[in-house]
Amino acid sequence: MPSFEQSLDERFPGAMSETDFLEITYNAIAGHGFDADNTIACVGVCRDELCRSLVWAVRDVWGEAFNFSGLGGLLTLGIAGFRAAHYHAPIYNGRERYVYIIMPHIGISEDGDFGKCLREGRHGSSAACGALSAMLEEFRTGTLDLSVNNDNIEYSLLKQHLTPRLLGKGLDTDSLDIATLTLAMSNLITDDLERMIELTVDKEVADYGVLTGVQIHRPISGSMVWINKGYVCVEGERRELELELPNL
Ligand SMILES: [Zn+2]
Repeated sequence: MPSFEQSLDERFPGAMSETDFLEITYNAIAGHGFDADNTIACVGVCRDELCRSLVWAVRDVWGEAFNFSGLGGLLTLGIAGFRAAHYHAPIYNGRERYVYIIMPHIGISEDGDFGKCLREGRHGSSAACGALSAMLEEFRTGTLDLSVNNDNIEYSLLKQHLTPRLLGKGLDTDSLDIATLTLAMSNLITDDLERMIELTVDKEVADYGVLTGVQIHRPISGSMVWINKGYVCVEGERRELELELPNL
């Protein structure tokens, strides 16, 4: 039987605590002219209360963040939401700065099972992410419904956006697992974020940082972050972040 650590290393190598993630990425981004005073943070995680710890960790470092969260971590705020966040950014020497921190989440149990977590006051294990687990169940049972249900709007959109990406990769959906689905979700929202940046950011007057990944809940308490992408765009030039990762 694998352990939490074995499963973590297998699928999310290099994952670190949320506080390490914030410290390391803040220091790296600060080297490009961003700081807590001249930058607005925009945080998008799942609506699950387990995900709030990352929002708090961001607040402790960057200050209060604009809320980009949606079910499963899907970015549903659209152009109007992005523009609203940008209008709230401080202006220093004529420039605005935004840092986007966007990720889906997954639990890993003590026995190394992906998609499982414990919740206070509930017996047995619970699903995390519940929305991605529900989608996986629809895949497995051949009941995947891709119509838009206005009474279930975020879940409908999540399935509509994520399904072509899974099928497009030629994945065998019978053997699809929650860790793969979560990584695909991380890639999807990274692409969605970059598309929305192209639609809403004026690089003549704004610099921005992108941090995407996966938030991973530990079996007992606390969460970790695996980094997918980390870069800044300063005066229109993209620069990869040099992240000094902790000894792992
Ligand atoms: Zn979730």
